[in-house]
Amino acid sequence: MTASQITTWSAEAGNASKCDRSRFRVVVDVGHTVQAPGALSARSVPEYDFNLRLGQQIHQRLIADGFTGTVLLVTEGEARPSLFKRVATANELPADLLLSIHHDSVPDWFLEDWEFEGTPSHFSDRFSGYSLFVSGNNPDYDASLLFAKLLGKQLKGRGLQYARQYREAFMGKYQHELVDADLGIYRYDPLIVLKEAKMPSVLLEAGSIINRDEELQMNSRKRRDLITASVKDAVRAFCDVGSGG
Ligand SMILES: [Zn+2]
Repeated sequence: MTASQITTWSAEAGNASKCDRSRFRVVVDVGHTVQAPGALSARSVPEYDFNLRLGQQIHQRLIADGFTGTVLLVTEGEARPSLFKRVATANELPADLLLSIHHDSVPDWFLEDWEFEGTPSHFSDRFSGYSLFVSGNNPDYDASLLFAKLLGKQLKGRGLQYARQYREAFMGKYQHELVDADLGIYRYDPLIVLKEAKMPSVLLEAGSIINRDEELQMNSRKRRDLITASVKDAVRAFCDVGSGG
């Protein structure tokens, strides 16, 4: 084989997908609801707004990449019932992978006061970064962890740092076991959207919106593109692995 033949072959192998993307269904779950919108950012914007915007972008990107069965899961209603409702919807579809999109905050005791555009708000610049959560009670923990690793590799490879505080005792009830110290994967067994899902399920905290600088990053097209590309590449790899690639 000549060098040019090898180059051609490699390029084809790189483009050829081993899995059937149109049959691989990803559910992109928009965390929280209009009625129960989650955390407030440092500039008092509800987390739900960030989740919806990023979730929509990821949904569109996956469809453009051939994952035409991708579903954007937007749920309504009060917080706790909505958790069961969203996971029931994913289970009924059914789906091959559930990715729940969130943005991070801090426990109340870290909040500090400031004013943004004349409105009293809260912030904490102490922590930043993405984090990934998996549940040991998901029926397919190994595959959940595999997808979390694939996504963590993409995020890390694009220069992002993960949020390190969740392993610390000072987080109290928010402390979690760090199962991958390289890629920022934590174990959160009782999380409903992870444990009640019948398919591999991962929760992504895309970044901290209570951190004043990171909120601006999360508002930037550049950061959203980076996270979206990471998810797309991780889904590609996960689909290929599931197809024996
Ligand atoms: Zn959230």
